[in-house]
Amino acid sequence: MEDQIPVSSPLITQEDIDYVAKCLGEGWVSGEGPYVTEFETKFAKICNREFAVSVSNGTDALDLAIAAIGLGRGDEVILPSFTIVSCLSQVLRMGATPVFVDSDSESWNMDTDSTVNSITSRTKLIIVPHIYGLPVDIDPILEAAARWGIPVIEDAAEAHGLFYKNRSCGSFGTASTFSFFANKNITTGEGGMVLTDDEVLQAQMLLRKNLAHKPGQRFVHEQLGWNMRLPAYQCALGTSQLDRLDYILARRREIGSFYHSAFAEVDFIQLPLRETFYASNSYWVFGMVMADDAPIKAIEVQNELAAKGIGSRPFFQPLHKQPVLGAFGLASQPTLANAEKLGRDGFYIPNGLNLSDSHLETVAESLLSIFEKC
Ligand SMILES: *Cc1c(COP(=O)(O)O)cnc(C)c1O
Repeated sequence: MEDQIPVSSPLITQEDIDYVAKCLGEGWVSGEGPYVTEFETKFAKICNREFAVSVSNGTDALDLAIAAIGLGRGDEVILPSFTIVSCLSQVLRMGATPVFVDSDSESWNMDTDSTVNSITSRTKLIIVPHIYGLPVDIDPILEAAARWGIPVIEDAAEAHGLFYKNRSCGSFGTASTFSFFANKNITTGEGGMVLTDDEVLQAQMLLRKNLAHKPGQRFVHEQLGWNMRLPAYQCALGTSQLDRLDYILARRREIGSFYHSAFAEVDFIQLPLRETFYASNSYWVFGMVMADDAPIKAIEVQNELAAKGIGSRPFFQPLHKQPVLGAFGLASQPTLANAEKLGRDGFYIPNGLNLSDSHLETVAESLLSIFEKC
């Protein structure tokens, strides 16, 4: 059964449709031309970056940035356990060794001190994903990385339009990556972007996203690339969506405040932080974590919501426990208690941009009635 209130739903307006139609009407269908350049230029500008390279999705953005920065066997890469597998795949494919750090139990982001303390002379990359709409406390990580000369990839797939201490998310580190999947703050259906200020890195990425034709000698290949081109009509959708980013963030914050008030009295759930000293939450998703002694488990709550036609999703499952690590000889990993708890007890509820206030009230009342029964 399809959920009557889906966990996420993209906002596609008539302006979006008109702009995509204009692009198609002019015959721009492949991954080049003025609509691609326009989206890349505008996106780089709002993030305060020199260069933007559009790609097919956010996973490609990470693969491309990691490949272009370069990793070798035995190199260590620091990343949180509590994130999406897209942060890990290319690290493993290049034979490097992931060093997983635990999450802060309040912000659900990678713990800044653990990250800095995990740096060794073998560390060759740090991947910093902002989780669920609240930025990572990134300054101490950037400072330590600069001291050691280690590149940083900022994964801002859940952080379009956000600020860390008045600086744009997407502007930090060697490269920043974005996703424009259907549930992200702005969407091109599928789509992604890498931003950088490094011209040499940009050239490496342009080469590799387009089959790595030798510059000036098409169909000659000195290395292997991929086809990660993002079609023009999707770029047109992205450009049109960008105009609405402020509204989208404001609405997500409104939904966040509504849920915060609705669940303020429930003492066995942990809600997202509203703000920290460096940023305010934009609630890309509205998550909650059941306390250890809660009278009901996250999965049971999710099942009861589903029975009422209300969508929800479990949190990320920790990367340091993923079965695929075994294939790389990395099955044995230290315990990361916070990441494991988040994966076990966390889930998020509908906050789609098409939901009306009365939908939100239905979600809140349904969830409260599930809680009251137990
Ligand atoms: C969504 C997401 C990605 C992957 O993006 P896709 O476009 O789905 O491939 C990467 N990192 C984070 C943090 C994400 O939330």
